[in-house]
Amino acid sequence: MILDLRTIYVVSAMTCLVLGCVYLAAYSTGRFGRWPAWWGVANFLIGLGTLCVSLRNFVPASVSLDAGNVLTIAGYLLTFFAIRVFAERPVDKRYCVLAIACISLPVLLFTVDPARISSRLLYVSAVCCLCDLAILREGVVIYRREKLFSAGLLAWLYAPTAAMFLVRCLLAASGQIGGPGAFGDSPVHGWMGATAVVFLALRSVVVVLMSAERNRAKLIDLAHRDPLTGVLNRSGLAQHLPFKQPQSLALLAIDIDGFKQLNDQHGHAVGDDMLRLFAGVAQTALRPGDLLSRQGGDEFVVVLKGMTAAEAVQIAEGMRQAFSAAVAQMPGLTVFPTLSIGVATSCKAETDFEHLLRKADEALYASKRHGRDRVEASAGEQAA
Ligand code: GH3
Ligand code: MG
Repeated sequence: MILDLRTIYVVSAMTCLVLGCVYLAAYSTGRFGRWPAWWGVANFLIGLGTLCVSLRNFVPASVSLDAGNVLTIAGYLLTFFAIRVFAERPVDKRYCVLAIACISLPVLLFTVDPARISSRLLYVSAVCCLCDLAILREGVVIYRREKLFSAGLLAWLYAPTAAMFLVRCLLAASGQIGGPGAFGDSPVHGWMGATAVVFLALRSVVVVLMSAERNRAKLIDLAHRDPLTGVLNRSGLAQHLPFKQPQSLALLAIDIDGFKQLNDQHGHAVGDDMLRLFAGVAQTALRPGDLLSRQGGDEFVVVLKGMTAAEAVQIAEGMRQAFSAAVAQMPGLTVFPTLSIGVATSCKAETDFEHLLRKADEALYASKRHGRDRVEASAGEQAA
């Protein structure tokens, strides 16, 4: 069965034009960032280009072929840049304009004989195929970097269209399409066109999914982080517990000594700087899988996986000394806060986190009682 390619082009053009308008309207609200503007213009150009091509033999070749092909290529390239904008990668507008001009305008160099446009079709299809492959790659990069399932989906959606454009290249190269009967000379061409319309619409749906998934991940991350220091908060820590593989745990309960006095003497802004300083020092002392959480005020908890009591005390001691050294570097201080740290460990596979936290807290208060600025291991655990 041969599908009517001109009708398919018109449907495809209308779909892209409507999608373009919807995305531009969304951008104009200022609620969705910059990427809908790029995606909207890209769809709009592809729609206009496809509409021009669909009017072949009804309008001059300069409109249907020249303008149609240039607009289509420009739209495809913009789709690639739109995905880069979505990925928050640097996109230089001058570079985009240059790339679009250098890649779309050469299409005009091909034969303008409307009866034989296979070489031109080959060029347009090759550019579209490369754009699809480039977007597929961007999708994989976003999927890996942000763990967005929908970015993986987007990459998968671009694979069939890249393959279809490749087939179109082969058909054009062998002269099976692009001859005098432009609309209706190949059943394969018609079916590929119909399939492409579906993919064009699906892509725009998946981009919205990507945006929704990213926003949700950002909100969850915000809810699980302390805005002042950027480390986990209580609910963030709870979210990361219990660990999947059973293993021994070491817990450090940490409180900054003399923090109230620092606030009173130097003001809350300096107190905030001190909290940030501590978070930076603590993170430097930790390994990649360890957890640091602000429990509230000047109290923090560190979770060290698979560590003995002696090793945990060593880490705590290093943190205490590094913090004192960093505080000594702060200019203009008359109060020099220190750290009191309580350490508790459990070598049981099934760790009761709350019980361990109570033990670490008791050790912390023992450290306060014994004069502050020190590390105290929980009763029954041996320090190094
Ligand atoms: P200790 O040596 O016994 O630990 O006493 P301290 O002076 O450190 O005082 P304590 O830990 O009891 O009090 C913590 C203070 O931290 C009380 C509160 O005003 C202050 N605080 C709580 N949250 C913040 C914050 O986000 N920023 C600042 N600058 N201060 C805070
Ligand atoms: Mg304190």
